[in-house]
Amino acid sequence: MKAIPYGRQSIEKTDIDAVIETLQADFLTQGPKVKEFEEKFASYVGSKYAVAVSNATAGLHISVLALGLEPGDRVITTPITFAASANCIRYGGGEVWFADIDPNTYLLSIEHTKRLIESKPKGFFKGIIPVDFGGLPVNLQEFRDLANEHDLWVIEDACHAPGGYFVDSQNIKQNCGNGNFADVGIFSFHPVKHIACGEGGMITTNNKKIYDKLLSLRTHGITKENMSENHGGWFYEMKELGFNYRLTDIQSALGITQLAKNNVGVIRRNEIATKYKNAFEGKVKYQSLPPNTYNAHHLFVIEVNNRKGLYDYLRNENIYAQIHYIPVHTLPYYREIGYQDVDLSNAENYYAHCISLPMYPTLSDEEQVFVIEKVLSFIE
Ligand SMILES: *Cc1c(COP(=O)(O)O)cnc(C)c1O
Repeated sequence: MKAIPYGRQSIEKTDIDAVIETLQADFLTQGPKVKEFEEKFASYVGSKYAVAVSNATAGLHISVLALGLEPGDRVITTPITFAASANCIRYGGGEVWFADIDPNTYLLSIEHTKRLIESKPKGFFKGIIPVDFGGLPVNLQEFRDLANEHDLWVIEDACHAPGGYFVDSQNIKQNCGNGNFADVGIFSFHPVKHIACGEGGMITTNNKKIYDKLLSLRTHGITKENMSENHGGWFYEMKELGFNYRLTDIQSALGITQLAKNNVGVIRRNEIATKYKNAFEGKVKYQSLPPNTYNAHHLFVIEVNNRKGLYDYLRNENIYAQIHYIPVHTLPYYREIGYQDVDLSNAENYYAHCISLPMYPTLSDEEQVFVIEKVLSFIE
């Protein structure tokens, strides 16, 4: 059996052809493919606007700036995420506060978030960044209600969840990143995620003011909006300190063909998840699925007692399982800042037991049977 990773991109001839075609076209960057990718992405998730960026971390960075983050502002996120969800707050000079996860869904717990907010004076926090961890959509309606009560903004880190959705209290399907509850949504196109561009990201929003700000911050803070007939064609103004966080046309061309296959990929991921669940039911704990929620399954996470043992055992069988994630508040950088003394025992307990099994559309039935067999033989 060849090596089985925990995640893998699928690149087909249509993807390769699209990239080659763009390499031979007039624009390698700042051309029509970027716009096309943005429009198709917005229409896929159901948001008004989408802004393509060089990676999701860059997207998180300019999103906190667009939402007005200032040095010293305090923002809440989950400890069980990739460090970038928290780092963006630090880029803007803000303080990162963590609230604990739910021990069964592994998502930022609404109860713990509420308790943290209510333990501080009004106005203490500025925003919340919930993460659709593993592909499981956060119930953003609940977070929006809480945010409104305390005048906070919400960024949905949807890097794991293109194609996921939850059904709201009005019985309406709410796609991850559709911008109906969160101020912005963030997606990543790193090859381990659903849509591979090599590097890449997308910000979605329904707010025109935030959208305009994001466009400016993505390209140096440069605008031509005040150009009149008295100006020459070279005219531009730099009105604020922005960045070069652009996605290229080459990457966008790949993103367009990858996006077109996302629904098929998510269906396949759910097929794989169902097989794991059927095999593990009553034997191994796995991420639970709340009612009215569709998991896009970036990951399939289980919890076991001897996690290091299972990890090494699988490696020996050429199965490259992975751990998601080392809790962010325990990373040396955050430990050193250490301004928070809060009980995050659910996150720490989860981390002691979690392991992510292979989950990607091209994982074959035969490979999955092999993985299941090995996990069960270790457990038993
Ligand atoms: C991958 C990931 C990011 C960062 O994405 P990049 O495109 O690599 O910058 C941010 N948040 C989460 C939850 C992620 O999984």
